[in-house]
Amino acid sequence: MRAWNAPGIPVLPVTGPPVVLHDTSTGGKVETSPEGPARLYVCGITPYDATHIGHANTYIAFDLLNRAWRSAGHDVRYVQNVTDVDDPLLERATKVGVDWVELAERETELFRHDMEALRVLPPAEYVGAVESIPLVIELIQRLDAGGSLYRVDTDLYFSVAADPAFGEESRYDRETMLRFFAERGGDPDRPGKKDPLDCVVWRGEREDEPSWDSPFGKGRPGWHIECAAIALQHLGTGFDVQGGGSDLVFPHHEMCAGHVQVATGEPFAKAYSHAGMVAYDGQKMSKSLGNLVFVSALRNSDIDPMAIRLALLRHHYRTDWEWTDDLLWTAVDDIANLRRALALGDGAPAAPVVQEVLAALADDLDAPRATAAIDAWVKATLGTDGLADNSDTEASMTLLPVLDAALGLSL
Ligand code: ZN
Repeated sequence: MRAWNAPGIPVLPVTGPPVVLHDTSTGGKVETSPEGPARLYVCGITPYDATHIGHANTYIAFDLLNRAWRSAGHDVRYVQNVTDVDDPLLERATKVGVDWVELAERETELFRHDMEALRVLPPAEYVGAVESIPLVIELIQRLDAGGSLYRVDTDLYFSVAADPAFGEESRYDRETMLRFFAERGGDPDRPGKKDPLDCVVWRGEREDEPSWDSPFGKGRPGWHIECAAIALQHLGTGFDVQGGGSDLVFPHHEMCAGHVQVATGEPFAKAYSHAGMVAYDGQKMSKSLGNLVFVSALRNSDIDPMAIRLALLRHHYRTDWEWTDDLLWTAVDDIANLRRALALGDGAPAAPVVQEVLAALADDLDAPRATAAIDAWVKATLGTDGLADNSDTEASMTLLPVLDAALGLSL
């Protein structure tokens, strides 16, 4: 599948520090130490609706990681999927009376435009579930050969008991796992399962649903096996970071890790990183609640995408926070002031700001700390007190590349 167009990235004259990241599976910060290109997999959208601010928050978080690695001198191999066949997509297509393929293509295209506008670096491999069905079948066969699958009617289930490391990614207790499994697409109460937490890897054909031939009968892939197969194919085992929103900690990332661990005997990823949830009107932004703020709607209202990006950068990626219109208007003003300060050419000393921005981003992607350093520079530059004694004649030329390369702000 085609990704979106890559923005240019200026080359920085300085190298950033090694990147430290919070890892869900250990509960603490770990220093990422890529051997060869840094390998990153981030779970993509199920394309049945437009990109909302919660999505943008997640993809910008991992864009910061991508950029921090590049600043530190690494090449990055980034892979993202598109779940272009799954229950929510089929349900929405039926509800609105459009072909599911058409709906998926339309919403994926809108997502590409949103990502481009927000200057998110595209993945090297942007991979759909449908085009990956042969990979999924191959991985299911490996799991089946190891005896970790069983059948309930025409569906194939993965037995979590086959994975000795099950639970080590999320570190949740069983009660929490059961709750999230029920809330997030699982079927703990289905009769015939060996363990309520076992998840489907191949869903047998249903009437009025698309299906594909396989050695296990006609059907379609489960969601977790899809990401496991795509990541395994394009990144191999033990890649550097598996990323996504915090609602993917369990079951999705736990199951992906389990599938690959059992099929290959190797760990899935070295670290698991999760972005917080964005609320609106007091509740987590979600399709089921209908409290969504769409990136495309803001763009259509002539909001500068760099202001949207700055509003998101104001929050640490791991926190849960609430989107408000005030946040956006403040970011619009801040971008205008930043442009005004940069247009002066000279200003307050910029080299320490560059160091602080790179250090903040390498320390668990601390974008609020990075943007605070920029705010201080804007204030010092636009203020008149004492600047003449301490003016940096190349301040704009020094700052512009780091704003773009490290924070994705092109001004
Ligand atoms: Zn995924």
